[in-house]
Amino acid sequence: MSNKLILVLNCGSSSLKGAVLDNDSGDVLLSCLAEKLSLSDAYITFKVNGEKHKVELADNPNHTGAVAALMEELKKHGLDSRIGAIGHRVVSGGELYSDSIVITEEVVAGIEKCIPLAPLHNPANLLGIRAAQDIFKGLPNVAVFDTAFHHSLPQHAYTYALPRELYRKYGLRRYGFHGTSYRYVADEAARFLGKDKNQLRMVIAHLGNGASIAAVANGKCQDTSMGLTPLEGLVMGTRSGDVDPSVFSFLAENAGMDIKQVTDMLNKKSGLLGISELSSDCRVIEEEAGKGHEGAKLALEVFAYRLAKYVGSMAVAAGGLDVLAFTGGIGENSNVIRSKVLGYLNFLGLKEDAKANEDARFGNSGVITTADSSAQAVVIPTNEELMIAHDTAKLSGL
Ligand code: ADP
Repeated sequence: MSNKLILVLNCGSSSLKGAVLDNDSGDVLLSCLAEKLSLSDAYITFKVNGEKHKVELADNPNHTGAVAALMEELKKHGLDSRIGAIGHRVVSGGELYSDSIVITEEVVAGIEKCIPLAPLHNPANLLGIRAAQDIFKGLPNVAVFDTAFHHSLPQHAYTYALPRELYRKYGLRRYGFHGTSYRYVADEAARFLGKDKNQLRMVIAHLGNGASIAAVANGKCQDTSMGLTPLEGLVMGTRSGDVDPSVFSFLAENAGMDIKQVTDMLNKKSGLLGISELSSDCRVIEEEAGKGHEGAKLALEVFAYRLAKYVGSMAVAAGGLDVLAFTGGIGENSNVIRSKVLGYLNFLGLKEDAKANEDARFGNSGVITTADSSAQAVVIPTNEELMIAHDTAKLSGL
């Protein structure tokens, strides 16, 4: 036990999310979100004791400026000296890292080496690491990788049916993402159900703006739906998930689109947004579907059907199904999507408890299948920050 706090940082190319956590209680003492970094009107918003306020970053509108402003805010509340270590979300550790690790110059070089696998995210994560080293001098920094939990994927699960040389030369294989969330939810689901996680065959669906699903058996990840990049797999807010790779040549020949345009379309204009022609936001889609909007209704159905199909394939990877866990903004809140998915899975013996499904929303965990179901479906709110804080405290000896 220590009374030191952990600062958790999650950096994007133009944003920085931070949280100061008490590692023992899980309480968040302060959180912040910096936006528009690298633009002259960059700002950071702090939330302390339920109160929000905004600070302009005009003098230093970058990641270091944001961390410096965070340091000032911590000083104001007498929290600066209580920070014991900093945990960083790092998107890709490729094949190099199977676990979280204390950041040294060698680890920085390793994260740089993985940039081709996460060209938008890893450079931003490195900016956050450098800023933290600069402002919080002398404190340990720990990297927690989104890909680490998927290191246990067997070769037959991570190998694409492409010429092997591409894997050897470029590392072209499936890596998966959302690993920190899966690790947290696998532990929590077992704890919530009072079972040993090593005895459970779990399928976990992390459904946020980005969505993926994973199979966990014997406490280890066996397969997951995201691949080389987060584009593969489920239908997402704006990403297509699985499509026939021939869409590239088809759209080049028929619509005159180039690789960049098709890639952009698959990542930013597809998914719930593309099908509904309304929004990428599941709440909006549900509302409009309820009013009879055809595109919204179709978007919900394609989302749920693809997800249910993937639960089936992940049950193969897990060697059976004891627990289906829902998490992420949609997984934790949308009883509509969950109900549709359980409807498709009825033949597997998963029977929805409609009242329990309605109650398990807005941060509530719950079993949402009836007692006579052959497997249990549960809702478990994820907490990636807490998992990062736990790893950081452990590796820093706090
Ligand atoms: P991110 O991947 O950006 O972290 P979140 O996990 O916060 O995203 O999930 C965002 C998604 O959750 C959005 O599609 C949002 O509409 C959906 N969502 C949040 N609350 C609800 C709700 N009450 N009902 C349905 N969907 C919801």
